[in-house]
Amino acid sequence: MIGIFGGTFDPVHIGHLRLATEVAETLDLSRVHLVPAAIPPHRGEPLLDPATRLDLVAQSIADEPRFVLDDREHRRAGPSYTADTLAEFAAEYPGEPLVLMMGMDAFNGLPGWHEVERILDLAHIAVATRPGSEATGTAARWLAERQVVPGALAESPVGRIVPVAITRLDISATTLRGFIEQGRSLRYLVPEPVVRHFRRG
Ligand code: ATP
Repeated sequence: MIGIFGGTFDPVHIGHLRLATEVAETLDLSRVHLVPAAIPPHRGEPLLDPATRLDLVAQSIADEPRFVLDDREHRRAGPSYTADTLAEFAAEYPGEPLVLMMGMDAFNGLPGWHEVERILDLAHIAVATRPGSEATGTAARWLAERQVVPGALAESPVGRIVPVAITRLDISATTLRGFIEQGRSLRYLVPEPVVRHFRRG
């Protein structure tokens, strides 16, 4: 099974990297593709330009062989839709189950994503628990209907949902952008390449 982990990564932080690490461990994923969004459909203009967001992810995962930086959403024109990204992965890796990884906050927004039925026809969803968040509304109903335990995922028909309890790290890129604006240290909240980038800047 292959993990696919999208996000704005504006900037990448240890909450992202622990999610990728712990979900990969729990589900025994052969690798995780980190897919920075080029033009995020759900939000405003990022602080960091696309090349910098990609470069900081690349540097931060350089010594983790299971992680792969995937720049496909930057090579594609127009908005970055997850359904299109998953369709490309499915064509490239036929027969290999795909697992879309996300935090609980993102999962709660999933019912509103572009072509969400297509997403659930292409991949499983791994939801990492995040401080203070629980499944709500339609997402909670989907979780109740489609939930499987980690060990059952590989043999399940596509579109199952597996919650994965991960170490709770209450870090968000929004908070970090506030720190950057105030000239505060990012040290120990982000990987070293991100610390160095903002020290230089
Ligand atoms: P922002 O604050 O700018 O919204 P973010 O820190 O939430 O950013 P994103 O790039 O938007 O990061 O999120 C990518 C994915 O990482 C989402 O699925 C989100 O739920 C997850 N995520 C982000 N921070 C954490 C964290 N501290 N713990 C677990 N998951 C996280």
